[in-house]
Amino acid sequence: MYINGAFVDSVSKKTRNILNPATKEVIATVPEAQIEDVNAAVDAARAAFDGEEWKSKTAQDRQKILFSIAGKIRENFEAFVKLEVENNGKPIREAEFDIDDAASCFEFYAGLATKIHGETMSVPGNSFSYVTREAIGVCAQIIPWNFPFLMCAWKLGPAIAAGNTVVLKPSEVTPLTALFLAQLIDELDIPKGVINIVTGDGPIAGNALISNTKIDKIAFTGGTSTGKYIGKIAAENLKKATLELGGKNPVVIFDDCKMDLAIDWGLFAAFANSGQVCTAGSRILIQDTIYDEFVKQFVARAKNIKVGDGSDAENTMGPIVSQAHFDKIKAYIEVGKSEATLAFGGNSDDSKGFFIEPTIFTNVTPNMRIAREEIFGPVVALLKFSTEEEAIAMANDTEYGLGYGLFTQDVTRVHRVMPKIRAGIGWVNFYHPTFNEMPWGGYKQSGTGRELGLYGIENYLEVKQVNINLDTDPVGWY
Ligand code: NAD
Repeated sequence: MYINGAFVDSVSKKTRNILNPATKEVIATVPEAQIEDVNAAVDAARAAFDGEEWKSKTAQDRQKILFSIAGKIRENFEAFVKLEVENNGKPIREAEFDIDDAASCFEFYAGLATKIHGETMSVPGNSFSYVTREAIGVCAQIIPWNFPFLMCAWKLGPAIAAGNTVVLKPSEVTPLTALFLAQLIDELDIPKGVINIVTGDGPIAGNALISNTKIDKIAFTGGTSTGKYIGKIAAENLKKATLELGGKNPVVIFDDCKMDLAIDWGLFAAFANSGQVCTAGSRILIQDTIYDEFVKQFVARAKNIKVGDGSDAENTMGPIVSQAHFDKIKAYIEVGKSEATLAFGGNSDDSKGFFIEPTIFTNVTPNMRIAREEIFGPVVALLKFSTEEEAIAMANDTEYGLGYGLFTQDVTRVHRVMPKIRAGIGWVNFYHPTFNEMPWGGYKQSGTGRELGLYGIENYLEVKQVNINLDTDPVGWY
C-alpha cells in the first residue's frame, strides 16, 4: 500500500491473493488493510492537508502535478493496459480506451486546476463582499472493480486539482492498476501524504475509512445498497458525500430508427465490459412494429461476440470479474429462464475462468425481476412498447435513474422525450461514450452529486464568503 509516501504492508501482515478472472491464476498478493492501516493513511492525509508544504503549492503547481501524472500514464500505457486486462478481465480494446480516457481525465483536471475562481457580489451597505472556493480537506475515495483505473482518475483528478488530500481504496478484487499508479506517483515531486492508496475489503478497510471522523468528504462509486449504508454513516458524522451508484438503464428503440445503428449500439450498451457497467443498457424497449425484426438482427449480431480471455485481441467479451459475481449472474439467468424466453446464450463455464455467454431474454414484461433488478452482467431484457407515452412510462418505471438511450431519426421526438426521462446521462443514436467534460451521475437511487466536468470539481470545494467593511468610522452600537 502507499501511505505517507512509503510502500508498506498491513501492520497485521494480512494479505489477499489477486486473481486473473480469465484463468483463475493468482497474479499478485497485496496487503489487506485493517483499521489501524486505514487510520494511518487518514492521519497522513490529515497532516498533509493541515501542513504548510501542500498548502503552499499554487494552482499552477497542482496543474503541473496532474499533467505529470497523465504523462506517466501515457509513458506506461501498455503496462497499464496489460495489468487492467489481467486483473479485471476486460478485452484489450476496452482497456486501451479506459487507460487513455483516464490519462485524459487527469489532463482535463490539470487544466481546470487554474480555473477555480471566486466571485464578487453587490450587497447592500458598505461592504466589499466576495466568494472564494477552497479545498474541502481529506477525501475518502472508494471505487468499484468494473473500471478500476478509470475510477481512480475520476476520483483523484478533481480532488487534487482542488487542493485536497486523498485516501483512495480500490476494490479488493482489482487493486493492481491503482498500486501501479502509486509507484509512478512516488517518482514525482508530490508532498508525502497527499495521495494515499490502501488495499482492503469493504466491511473492514472501507468501513474504517468512511467512519474515520478526521476525513472531510466521502466520494463513493459502487452498489446502491453499499451507497445507502455509506450515506447513513456520512450523515451521522456530517461528512459531505457524493454517491455514484447502480442503474437499470433503458434503451428506447423507436420504429423510425436506423436499424443497423440501433443494433450496433444496442449490443454495445448491453455487452460492453461483459455488461458490468453502471450505465449498461440492460433493458431495451423496442416499438412493437419493429420488435420481431429487431430481435432477429440483435440475436444474429450477438453471435459475433467472441467470449474469452481479454488478453487475446480476437476476443470481444472477457470473463466476469470474480467467482462470487459469476454465481450471482448465473442465478439471475435461471430467474430469467423461469419468467421470460431465452432467445440467445445463457451458458456459462467456470472451469478455467469465469465465462458467461451474452444472454438475451425476449418476451420480458416490466414487472419481471430481470427487468427491474441490476444484474451487472451480460444479460439483457428485450421489452415491447407501442406508443411514445408508453415508452416514456416504461423507461421511468425503475427505482434507478442513471443512463438512458434513444434511437430515432426524429429530432422533435428527441426533444419531446428527453425532458420526460428521469435519469442523469442520455445518449441519442449511440450509447456509452463518456466525456470528461460532461457531468456524470444519477437521479433517484442511482446516487447523489455529479462527477466529471466543471460539476465534478464543485464537490471537492468549500465555498467561503468574505465581507470587508468599507466604512471604518465607529458605529457606536452600545
Ligand atoms: P460494491 O458496492 O460492492 O463495492 C464498491 C466499493 O465499496 C469497493 O471498493 C468495496 O470494497 C467498498 N465497500 C463495500 N462495502 C463497504 C462498506 N460497508 N463500507 C465502505 N466501503 C465498502 O460495488 P461493486 O460490486 O464493486 O461494483 C458494482 C456496483 O457499482 C454496481 O452496482 C454498479 O452499478 C456500481 N457502479 C456505479 C458507477 C456510477 O458511476 N454510478 C460506476 C461504476 C459502478
